[in-house]
Amino acid sequence: MFGSFEGKTVIVTGGSKGIGKGIAKVFAKHGANVAVVARHLDAAEECAKELMEDGSVVHACRGDVTDLESMKAIAKEVYEKFGSIDVVCANAGIFPSKSLEDMESNDWDHVMDTNTKGTFYTVQAMLPYLKKAEYGRIILTSSITGTITGYAGWSHYAASKAAQLGFMRTAALECADHNITVNAVSPGNVMTEGLAGMGEDYLKEMAEAIPLKKLGKVEDIGYAALFLASKEAGFITGQAIVVDGGQTLPEE
Ligand code: NAP
Repeated sequence: MFGSFEGKTVIVTGGSKGIGKGIAKVFAKHGANVAVVARHLDAAEECAKELMEDGSVVHACRGDVTDLESMKAIAKEVYEKFGSIDVVCANAGIFPSKSLEDMESNDWDHVMDTNTKGTFYTVQAMLPYLKKAEYGRIILTSSITGTITGYAGWSHYAASKAAQLGFMRTAALECADHNITVNAVSPGNVMTEGLAGMGEDYLKEMAEAIPLKKLGKVEDIGYAALFLASKEAGFITGQAIVVDGGQTLPEE
């Protein structure tokens, strides 16, 4: 469909499992050198090993998006290993549930620090290297929650995901001079390892609520990211693509 990603380097934060692993898999299959970042190096290495079984090039890095120095160290490590950083997928995120009444300051800060400040740190640390690329691409994993819908128990998460899109629009303006685009993918309910343990009935109920009658696959998000990272998407910036099987469409 698109030109090859051969010779391009892609960093995926939160790439050891779930949606990040799906994004990493899709880019690796399309010839990119991929670096997967997570706090648990063993899980990142396990993921890299699995993705490399078909000959893909995947490097595991230990990193924490809430720590700017850690993200700067990863940028340097990946640039030295592969010679460029072309695409950054700021995907790492957490979603612990807490009602508004029970939420304490540290619950709020933990989610905002990871999802929102973590996005800022990831982008700021990678920017010097993205500026050297032929064309740079930044792709954020936001959500339908907070940007289109609400979900009881996730007010902090919803705020963090909406904030990512506000950040995206201004970052897109600041990065435009350097031929770097900044876009987002907003997933609906996606089948991840975390969701798999929720039981058949729960998964069936979730799928029923989606017009296409199925949960998203992690690769569905990967393909949207691949499109936004392609040369062909070079005139798209500051936009979010909803990938939700029609979940947000019904009026009732
Ligand atoms: P997941 O399966 O729980 O995976 C989260 C990933 O992020 C793991 O690799 C985790 O590894 C990493 N991570 C967490 N905190 C980190 C930190 N501080 N620094 C670096 N890495 C960190 O999550 P997911 O469901 O795939 O969600 C990924 C993204 O998609 C999130 O931004 C989420 O908001 C968004 N999203 C998910 C869904 C869905 O249905 N699953 C829907 C909409 C949006 P370590 O724990 O080892 O660090």
